[in-house]
Amino acid sequence: MNNSSQSARDALALLAADRRRFLRMALGTGAAAFGLPLAGPALAGRAAEVSRVEAGRHEGFTRYVFAISNPVDFDTLLLDNPARAVIDIHSTRLKDVSLPSTPDSPVVKGLRVGVRNGHDLRLVFDLKKRARPQIIILPPTGGGSHRLVVDLPHGGGADTVIAERPDVPRQESTLQSGSGAFRDLVVAIDPGHGGKDPGAIGRRGTREKDIVLNIGLQLRDLIAATPGLTPVMTRDDDRFIPLRQRTEIARRHEADLFISVHADAFRLASAKGASVYCLSQNGASSEAARWLAAKENSADFVGGASLSGHDEDVASVLLDLAQTKTLESSLDFADRVLQRIGNIAKLHKHDVQQAGFAVLKSPDIPSILVESAFISNPQEEQRLRSSSYQRQIAQSILEGVNSYYTAHAPQGTRYAML
Ligand SMILES: [Zn+2]
Repeated sequence: MNNSSQSARDALALLAADRRRFLRMALGTGAAAFGLPLAGPALAGRAAEVSRVEAGRHEGFTRYVFAISNPVDFDTLLLDNPARAVIDIHSTRLKDVSLPSTPDSPVVKGLRVGVRNGHDLRLVFDLKKRARPQIIILPPTGGGSHRLVVDLPHGGGADTVIAERPDVPRQESTLQSGSGAFRDLVVAIDPGHGGKDPGAIGRRGTREKDIVLNIGLQLRDLIAATPGLTPVMTRDDDRFIPLRQRTEIARRHEADLFISVHADAFRLASAKGASVYCLSQNGASSEAARWLAAKENSADFVGGASLSGHDEDVASVLLDLAQTKTLESSLDFADRVLQRIGNIAKLHKHDVQQAGFAVLKSPDIPSILVESAFISNPQEEQRLRSSSYQRQIAQSILEGVNSYYTAHAPQGTRYAML
């Protein structure tokens, strides 16, 4: 016992001060963030009723809250000339509800409602300018209804991309609200490959590194426009970044989540569909996954850096413990993203996959890797090239982030105050 606790202290002493969150977790004092029960998959399908609608203007966004009998699925659509945001809420109807008067808002002109496909509720926000609604569904508190919350960002300052000012400490991005200061959740976005490492290449010559950068930039903009979230990019241009540096960038910015974006390839052109990966604890969960993991990890050798695992050697036991907790969070988050992507794309596998990707190895940051589609499949290569598919993937990831933080809002964040 003495030996093991001594070596644990030695291992901890070797961890740098900027890993204090990891230290807290390894020492068991950060358990609150991990002690939350995992929520199940979002419910969907049952007929729902909206019993109340409220609207108000807030700092940076205009909010509509719909009290709703149960969780729902929805689709969003942005229209121009004139600018409108349309939200179709599946299998839902209004129950003797009067709509609130429109708040004094720089973005919302008014709200109209209608019936779509006989059973869906259609909300049409008439807008003064283009704005992408951010939607989350909150569970009941104290026996009340679920709430579907639609935030329409006012734009301007909210669109500032923090990743271009990488040395700004988190405090400067803290938002103010009536009930005090709260911190933004930092979402690290990692477009795979880059520079001398093109990633997979499609038959038409499409390079994975270009596609995933576009998806990453779209995701960055969506996250920057979402109150309570701040994006950080591991790369925002065509440059090579070794795998270890990617997780280090995330750690330096105290990222709360890490999302690596890739496009898949396989020797059979028929392979198709999107997948979402988490780190495996016991090696790859399937032959295909193992093959893929080896391919992604080899990027470090392309850049000339070795896969030195010195840190892990020293602290491997502690890292394993921490990773088990983090992996639970990663799996939950990954499942939410997978469901959202499943709404807009074919899935390669209907369960979250697990493999030994190096970029997913942060012990304290829930991390996922999204394979957007198969660039080796000619039809999917075509789709990956379209900015609308790229945007849909980015939007799906954002909705997964919203869903995850709605269920697991860390204290002191905006999500915890909703
Ligand atoms: Zn890749």
